[in-house]
Amino acid sequence: MKQWIDKLRQERTLTPEEFRQLLTGCDAEILRYINKQAQEVALLHFGNKIYIRGLIEISNCCRNNCYYCGIRKGNPNIERYRLSRESILNCCKQGYELGFRTFVLQGGEDPALTNDQIEMTVARIRQEYPDCAITLSLGEKSREAYERFFRAGANRYLLRHETYNELHYRQLHPAEMSGKRRLQCLADLKEIGYQTGTGIMVGSPGQTVEHIIEDILFIEKLRPEMIGIGPFLPHHDTPFAGHPNGTVEQTILLLSIFRLMHPAALIPATTALGTADPKGREKGLLAGANVVMPNLSPVKDRKKYELYDNKICTGDEAAECRVCLKNRVKSVGFELVEDRGDVAL
Ligand code: SAH
Repeated sequence: MKQWIDKLRQERTLTPEEFRQLLTGCDAEILRYINKQAQEVALLHFGNKIYIRGLIEISNCCRNNCYYCGIRKGNPNIERYRLSRESILNCCKQGYELGFRTFVLQGGEDPALTNDQIEMTVARIRQEYPDCAITLSLGEKSREAYERFFRAGANRYLLRHETYNELHYRQLHPAEMSGKRRLQCLADLKEIGYQTGTGIMVGSPGQTVEHIIEDILFIEKLRPEMIGIGPFLPHHDTPFAGHPNGTVEQTILLLSIFRLMHPAALIPATTALGTADPKGREKGLLAGANVVMPNLSPVKDRKKYELYDNKICTGDEAAECRVCLKNRVKSVGFELVEDRGDVAL
C-alpha cells in the first residue's frame, strides 16, 4: 500500500484501481503514513502556516430540499433568519478587528435574497475592506449573476459538487435538482475567474468507493483552488435522520489524498470534522489541511444554521472562536496567519 502513497506523492495521481486499493485497504498504520506524507507536502508548500477565514452564515432560508441538509425547505422545525446588510457588515467589522482578511458569506439559496441585493452587499464589503478577500457560498446562480458578483468584488466561490455520480446525486437530492447544472455552475465560476472551491461529504448515504474515485478524478480535472471535505453528519429533521455519519478516518484519508494530488490547494479542516470528533480539526491539519474557518455569525442566529446535529461553536462569540482555534492550531505545531492566502494554480 505504501508504494501507492509514494507514487501518489511523486506523480500526483493513481489509476482508478490503485485508488480503489488505497481506499479499501487503508488500516491505521497506512493512514498514519499517508497523513504524514500529506503533512510534509503541505509544509513544503505553505510552511507551518494555517490560514483563517471568517464564516458569516447570512441566511438559513432555502428553496432546495437536499435530503441531507438541516436547513432544507421541507424542514418545518427551524426558525428561519436572514441577516440584514448592516448586520453582515457588522460581522465583517468585528472580524476585521480580530485580524480576519477573508470573509466567507454562506447561506441557503434564499429566494428573498435577490442578485441585486447580494451584488450590493459584496460591493459594500469591497468598498470598506479593499484589502480583504470576499468568498461567496450561496449555491447555484446564473452565470450572469456570478459575473455580477465577481465584478462587484467577490474573489472566491465555494460550491461543493457533493457527488459526481449522477445516480448518487439522485439519491441525495430531489428530482428537481440536477448534478449537471451544479457542474455547469462550477465551470462558469472557473471561467469567470473566481478562485473556485468544490468538494464532497464523506460517507453520505449511498456513497460507494467507486463514487469517491469518480469524485477524486473529477476534482483532478477541475483543478479547484479550494477543496472542501467533511464527514456527512445526520440531521434529525431530514430524510437521512437515521443514517450513520461519515468517519473521521475516511475523511482524513481523503484530505491527505487531495493534499498529495493538489499540493497548492487550500483545504479546510472543517467544522463538520470538528463536530465528528473533538480533535477532528487538529487531525485534519495533521493530515494536510491548511485552512480553518471560525464562525463570525451573530451568536443569536448561530444555532439556526444547523446543517447537521450537534454542530460545534454555536454558542461562542467570534473572538472566543478565534482564540480557541489559535490554540488548537498551535497545539499541533502550526501557526495561524492573517494574510488573505490567495492561491494561483
Ligand atoms: N447553499 C450553499 C451552501 C450549502 S451548505 C450551496 O448549495 O453550496 C455548505 C455545505 O455543507 C454543503 O455543500 C454540504 O456539502 C455541507 N452539508 C450540508 N448538510 C450536511 C450534513 N448533514 N452533513 C455534513 N455536511 C453537510
